[in-house]
Amino acid sequence: MTVPRPILFLDVDGPLNPWRADQERIERAGYRTLAMRPTGWEPPAPALLVRLDPRHGPLLLGLGFRLVWATTWKADANTWIAPVLGLPDLPYVEWPPLGRDDGEEVHWKTRRLVEVAAGRPFAWVDDEISAHDRDWVALHHAGRALLHRVDPAVGLRPGDFGALRQWAAGPAADGGRRGG
Ligand SMILES: [Mg+2]
Repeated sequence: MTVPRPILFLDVDGPLNPWRADQERIERAGYRTLAMRPTGWEPPAPALLVRLDPRHGPLLLGLGFRLVWATTWKADANTWIAPVLGLPDLPYVEWPPLGRDDGEEVHWKTRRLVEVAAGRPFAWVDDEISAHDRDWVALHHAGRALLHRVDPAVGLRPGDFGALRQWAAGPAADGGRRGG
């Protein structure tokens, strides 16, 4: 029996673009700094300097997930980010309008990602995940979930890819033991 691959919800700024990193250090580590001008932002974005490591695309494709953009870049991630990393066009999450403040500390992406996952196993890689999000997902998502925070001063590292690969290979069809 073929078990469907889990979803990997992928943020751009933080995990792939370590916007808080020291410039010299990140370029020594193999990142390229590129000027980008995404068109789909409201209000329109100024030219952005984005740091990307082209080795990350093949690594992501080899993890055993179905990759889905989970970023404010939305379709712009396919235009600007995917080609640098060698990724194909990926589906992306559409976000509800912002502005709701219901006094909780759950991230604004969290509810939407659980809705899109619709009970299927998923991992989420983002620099803004907190314990509030883990608690909320544990309560509202029936399948396995891994909420994996990446430091925006560092970006994705070998240990992150290892953790994701291991989780993706884990129990997917055993009754939904919760991971992560
Ligand atoms: Mg981010």
